[in-house]
This record gives sequence, C-alpha cells and structure tokens, in this order.
Amino acid sequence: MDLNTVADVISPAGVGQWQPGDAWLAGGTVLFAEPRPHLTRLLDLSTAGWPALTRREDGLEIAATCTIAEIAAAGHELVERCCDAFLASFKIWNVATVGGNLCAALPAGPMIALGAALDGTCLLLGPSGARTVPVKDFVVGEGLTALSPGELLRSIHLPAAALRARAAYRQGSLHPHGRSGVLVIGRLDEPGLTITVTASTQRPYVLRFPAFPSAEVVQIALTEGIPDNAYVTDVHGLPAWRRHLTRLYAEQVRQELSA
Ligand SMILES: Cc1cc2nc3c(=O)[nH]c(=O)nc-3n(C[C@H](O)[C@H](O)[C@H](O)COP(=O)(O)OP(=O)(O)OC[C@H]3O[C@@H](n4cnc5c(N)ncnc54)[C@H](O)[C@@H]3O)c2cc1C
Repeated sequence: MDLNTVADVISPAGVGQWQPGDAWLAGGTVLFAEPRPHLTRLLDLSTAGWPALTRREDGLEIAATCTIAEIAAAGHELVERCCDAFLASFKIWNVATVGGNLCAALPAGPMIALGAALDGTCLLLGPSGARTVPVKDFVVGEGLTALSPGELLRSIHLPAAALRARAAYRQGSLHPHGRSGVLVIGRLDEPGLTITVTASTQRPYVLRFPAFPSAEVVQIALTEGIPDNAYVTDVHGLPAWRRHLTRLYAEQVRQELSA
C-alpha cells in the first residue's frame, strides 16, 4: 500500500522529533497494510540500533524493534509457542516486530499474550519522560493502547521468575492455519495459578488465583471477570464460540498444571 501523503521518513528517529501527522515505523507490516491519509511523516525506529534481546539477572529485556524471528530464537518454550501463533511466512517474521505487535493491539497479537501472561512491563518514552505500564494494561481495546501522542514503546521486560514458571498453552483458530480466535495461557505460581486470556477478548484479561483453584472457581472467575461484550466478533470467530473455547481451554490448562 502506498502512503501517498507521506512526504518524509526520519531515520533514525527519537522521541523529540514527533509532531502531529507522524507515525512510528517499525516493520511496517500493519502500517503499510491500509490507507493512512492523515500521515505526513514516518519516524523510523528500525534503525535505532537497540539490541534485540538483553538477558539480565532480573529477566529478559526485549527491544520494541526485536523481530518475531529474533525472539523466536530466544530458546524459551512459551515464547516459541506464541511465535507459532503468529501465522505468517518467514518474510513477515523477519520484519514484524514485538513492539509493533503490541502497538497494533490486534486481539490476536501473540506478543501481547506472551507479555501479559508473563507479567511483562512496557517501557514507554515520551515528550514528558519515561514511564512503565504492565503489558496487560497497555492494550486497552481493539487497536487501542495506553500510548499518549508522541510516546513510543521502547522495550518490554519479562521478569525472571515468570520466565522460569511452568506454563500451559492452548490456541484455537477457525481454520487450521487461521489467525488466533482464542489464546489461553496458564502459569503456575506455586501455590497459585494465573490464567491469561487473549485473542478471544478485545484486551488481555489476567485472572490470578492465590491458591490452586478448582474447575468451578476458574469458571466463576471467567464469568465474573470477563463481560460478555468483551468477546471479539469478527471474521476470525463469533463471540459465543470464543467464549466457549476460552472456558474449555482455561479448564484444560488448569488440569495440565495440576499434574
Ligand atoms: C501475513 C500476515 C500475518 C499476520 N499475522 C498476525 C497475527 O497472527 N497476529 C497479529 O497480531 N498480527 C498479525 N499480523 C500483523 C502484523 O504483522 C503484526 O501485528 C506485527 O507484529 C506488527 O509489527 P510491525 O513491526 O510490522 O508494526 P508496524 O506496522 O511498523 O506498526 C504497527 C503500528 O504500531 C505503531 N508502532 C510500531 N512500533 C512502535 C513503537 N515501538 N512505539 C510506538 N508505536 C509503534 C505504528 O505506528 C503502527 O501504528 C500479520 C500480518 C501479515 C502480513
């Protein structure tokens, strides 16, 4: 898609350069997919030179510009499974970024699922300074994020304890190679359990159980915690189907982690 109104691409770009009519450019796989007549400049983050992955004692820092191909090679089972939920060719995997996935805020964003399930934190840089936001609160609706005008997502931090925890994963699509309609991740936080629901809902829902819950407790939490109108309706699945699979998968991850 040609963005005919764009007159300039600033590269490399930083926070101070943003002005109305600008968009941050990462891999461009979403940005270049639709007409954007309001845009006049692109601020290119792909040349910022941020190291893709930084392993620290307290966890893993993922640059927003880290590509899906780079994070898929990080050697972590849940990370790999979330990348597998990103059903695209190697050409897309090599340009699409983790940050772009969060900022596009599509319900099926597998990096949103990963970050929310592992208690990830977003580092945001903006004209008025830096701030952090949990990944689960970064996406606030379909295509909507907590970013203010001029703010960019710099990195995502995944804490070491969450990366070490046992996890169970279920993903469902209408078609064998379709975009995720439901993605549920369970994480064992002995003695408790955390269940994260994405893809079926307009934003991530993280349900925490301080003690290992019974099937009934999980089902009640899903019913009370996720309103019916929070389930997505689009070509990738109707809300009733998504709600049904969410409940089924939540029970499956609960059972898998109870073993
Ligand atoms: C074949 C195909 C399959 C796909 N499958 C999936 C899928 O399964 N799930 C899914 O969620 N998406 C999917 N996508 C959409 C897209 O590829 C991903 O969401 C991708 O991660 C977007 O990253 P990007 O780097 O290309 O973002 P871009 O297109 O560069 O940017 C996306 C948006 O985020 C903003 N942005 C990007 N980076 C930052 C930043 N650091 N700070 C602030 N704003 C920023 C941009 O301004 C833009 O509005 C698919 C696309 C294709 C073509």
